[in-house]
Amino acid sequence: MEKQYFSYNEIHTTIQNLSKKVQESGFDPDIILAIGSGGLISGRILKTFLGKPLYVVSISYYDDLEDGTGVPKLKPLVQQWLDKPTEQLKGKKVLIVDEVDDTRKTLQVCCELVLAYEPAELGLLVLHNKLKEKVGRLPEKLHYYFAGLELPPHLWAVYPWEVEGCIKEHSTLADKMLTEN
Ligand code: 5GP
Repeated sequence: MEKQYFSYNEIHTTIQNLSKKVQESGFDPDIILAIGSGGLISGRILKTFLGKPLYVVSISYYDDLEDGTGVPKLKPLVQQWLDKPTEQLKGKKVLIVDEVDDTRKTLQVCCELVLAYEPAELGLLVLHNKLKEKVGRLPEKLHYYFAGLELPPHLWAVYPWEVEGCIKEHSTLADKMLTEN
């Protein structure tokens, strides 16, 4: 799969631009809700620009072995949720943050869980949206959707927080890709 490398600097700039889009939209969230682990760093950077409290939940993919076909199906699993969800979400303007909107299944699960607590408004912000047919559906009650960059469907984004090797080499590659595009 074709890869695209993203540096911390580029991600910081993307979030800065996204925060301007949020402010220009008129949406003034009470809280930022980052989906871990991919949305953690983006959520933290967004907090710098929006100045709102940051909460964190954790949703990750697991193999569902019970779909009857013998083929494992990937489903998002909530590993950690808020400690006082009614207090933290009910009547609040909530901005959910994740790094990438791929199949959209994770975002659907998270939106549905938040909507169960009747927030006043709901927004979604992702660094990257892959332009593809989505499996997950966004709820009608979603008021705002912000994406930093649109990516082609076949592309795999490599984020700096995933790098096990040399981060400087990763950043150099990311900068090179940025100037070539
Ligand atoms: P979903 O398919 O539910 O939209 O995305 C699920 C998760 O898969 C994302 O939160 C992210 O952790 C991971 N993912 C999907 N596409 C990519 C990608 O291009 N790069 C990386 N690093 N993770 C991805």
